[in-house]
Amino acid sequence: MDKKIIEECDIVQDLLPLYYDDACTEASKELVQQHLLTCEKCKKTYAELKNNTIDAVIKKESAGVLERHARKERNSAYKAGIVIALLLLIPIVITFIVSISSGGSLGTFMVVTASMLLVAALTVIPLVSNQKRILKSILLGIAALLLILFFVDRMNGGGEFLLWSIPTIFGLSIILFPYVIRNITLPPVLSDKKALITMAWDTLWLFLTIFEVCNHSGNVEGMKSGYTCALILMTGVWLIFLVARYLPVNTWIKAGIITGIGCIWTVFSNDAYVSFMEHKKQLTILAVDFSDWSLNCLNANVYVLILIFGGIVSLLLILLGIVNLKRKNNCIKL
Ligand SMILES: [Zn+2]
Repeated sequence: MDKKIIEECDIVQDLLPLYYDDACTEASKELVQQHLLTCEKCKKTYAELKNNTIDAVIKKESAGVLERHARKERNSAYKAGIVIALLLLIPIVITFIVSISSGGSLGTFMVVTASMLLVAALTVIPLVSNQKRILKSILLGIAALLLILFFVDRMNGGGEFLLWSIPTIFGLSIILFPYVIRNITLPPVLSDKKALITMAWDTLWLFLTIFEVCNHSGNVEGMKSGYTCALILMTGVWLIFLVARYLPVNTWIKAGIITGIGCIWTVFSNDAYVSFMEHKKQLTILAVDFSDWSLNCLNANVYVLILIFGGIVSLLLILLGIVNLKRKNNCIKL
């Protein structure tokens, strides 16, 4: 290929977009047309340009259609939401009128209102809201539930609200808090600590639940053993969580350490509980005797087996992790 053709290619390539848009002079147009007849390379470029432009146009078109369609759907969902909200007002108005005319208290009215709010949280919110609808449903639903508990409690003379609501929040938190926190926008300092916040939140409500349930029935002994149990349980859970989330080692080593923690926790948690509660130093595994599998030694035997096999698995995983680490380092050096 001589130099002149190569130069012409450059010029034609520059002109192709203008040529495609029919925006160049007659002379340039002529030049491009002549060149495309003979040059395969530029012909190919022109074909690609045509295809890409058509793709872009189609994309834009279909996005517009989808957007219009979505808007239409949103509108009809919105209307359905409004209709349901109005329907929910009917029982509220009726109980209001009945309460007023019978001269009674507004207790039933408040309970009905709160119940309708709960229904609205689950039906109206998803229909009328555009963003984060599940999150809004959950939060409003829980608020409505607490209102119901509050007013029902008031109707029954009061004093039980915390007993009902704290365990309710605890139970709901375990299921829903991870979802809620993932969808909430937090300040930057906290935004990468969502798992930690979830753990702290659930731990807090666990202890509040134990406190409220025992405090309500005046069961001090129960509270003590509840707290001891929860403390031992949560120590294990927190250790595993912190290792899994924050220890700067690879997955194998983490799995090994977690297996180890799990075994130690299984074997010694009961002893720890007894020593806290009954101030008795005991070590179940000391009763180990593999020739005796009666109830006397069963626990100890099982515990020792767990320690042995768990320990082996744990060590193997950690070793695997270290080997992996070394191999990776060698790769980087090479
Ligand atoms: Zn060319």
